[in-house]
Amino acid sequence: VEQYRNQKVLVLGLAKSGMNAARLLHKLGAFVTVNDKKDFDENPDAQELLNDGIKVITGGHPLSLLDEDFKVVVKNPGIPYTNPIVAGAIEKNIPVITEVELASQILEGELIGVTGTNGKTTTTTLITAMLNQRTAAGKAYVAGNIGVPASAVAQKATADDTMVTELSSFMLCGIKTLHPHIAVITNIYSTHLDYHGSRENYIKAKMRITMNQTPDDYFVINWDSDEWQNLAKQSPAQVVPFSRQAKTKAGAYEVDGKLYFQDEYIMAAKNIKIPGDHNVENALAAIVVAKLQGVATAGIVQVLKTFSGVRHRTQYVETYEGRQFYNDSKATNLVSTEMALRGFDQPVVLLAGGLDRGNTFEKLAPALKDHVKTLIVFGETAQKVADAGKLAGIDDIEFTENCETAVPLAWQQSQPGDIIMLSPACASWDQYPNFEVRGDRYIKAIEKLTGKAEEN
Ligand code: ADP
Repeated sequence: VEQYRNQKVLVLGLAKSGMNAARLLHKLGAFVTVNDKKDFDENPDAQELLNDGIKVITGGHPLSLLDEDFKVVVKNPGIPYTNPIVAGAIEKNIPVITEVELASQILEGELIGVTGTNGKTTTTTLITAMLNQRTAAGKAYVAGNIGVPASAVAQKATADDTMVTELSSFMLCGIKTLHPHIAVITNIYSTHLDYHGSRENYIKAKMRITMNQTPDDYFVINWDSDEWQNLAKQSPAQVVPFSRQAKTKAGAYEVDGKLYFQDEYIMAAKNIKIPGDHNVENALAAIVVAKLQGVATAGIVQVLKTFSGVRHRTQYVETYEGRQFYNDSKATNLVSTEMALRGFDQPVVLLAGGLDRGNTFEKLAPALKDHVKTLIVFGETAQKVADAGKLAGIDDIEFTENCETAVPLAWQQSQPGDIIMLSPACASWDQYPNFEVRGDRYIKAIEKLTGKAEEN
């Protein structure tokens, strides 16, 4: 960490992670410049950084920035490598990293990394809860893409603690030395190809999670696809797989509804509180990590029996007159919505639609056919989602303004025993600032319907 003292560093992008990176580098004695394309007034924390003596440049990415000799550029994961400053820095051989890399450089405790297309947040949360069941061990903290900047956690974690870090592929593109003792890949599906250019590049980005590992480390990967099994061969670490299809018994697996770790029976899959087959996968991944880290089976079972889901991820909201409401606002792609639907035996009134990324939805038709009685669509993709519904043979398809106006409509079309679920299969940015706000507004609309909102 002494490497940053008296060095000039550039932080690109002033979101939460950028703020934290800037503060940390400042604390480490670096001369920090931050740069954001938004105007000064639109960066609520910019003034605070200025007061701390950090140089703040807003309202664009002036290329003249590159005239300075920066030792390192810390960029927001969302800023593409085609951004002229980023490209220019790379050309000048200035290392371009993301904030998690910086965090890993100062972290004294152990790092566990979790990536994958789906299930990252759930798996990260389960692992952390399981590790915290140990009595004679340090604390486990969640960090990273889950919404808690890793550099903040790394500063408070002691040598006994563990930072369980959710890593997006965008973040992984910006690591150099980050080295998880345990690296987990939950699954790899075809999304985010717009950013990475191709599936091959997307997989390469994900596999960066294991590139700095050694034979003393562990690489935990889903064994239920030949492609993923092949990826395991690239890892320098010891591979410990998990499988819902019992394709291997080397790690955690499910047979006839029962979960095992190697020879040991853990619990019945049906006793996992969070619904759906996808959550059995997430549970298996977490079981592997917990077992590797010495968590007692009782502690593992306790967590899986009681953990009720991460907010906005197939989150149970409430039951009202026999209808169960679920909020799956985080389902921003087809696979997520499909998995969420497959988690239910009851008829589903599905609320879906949102930002148009140019894709169609016919791949969703089989899951719609099997699970959905009423489809309520909104947002830019309303018509496209409705088309998939027609393909699935759903008779009751309704168009509405947004996921809030969808709630009373869903209510009218439902009967006791039904599931009413927001699982949009699309990002939220056509109508909402982010999926969290979308989910919160949906929950507000439910509360209004059920009378809670008036009571407050
Ligand atoms: P991530 O952090 O990777 O986006 P989350 O744990 O937040 O994943 O889950 C997001 C949504 O993705 C969930 O609501 C669910 O619909 C779906 N999902 C979760 N886990 C899996 C999985 N293992 N496989 C496929 N889909 C999943």
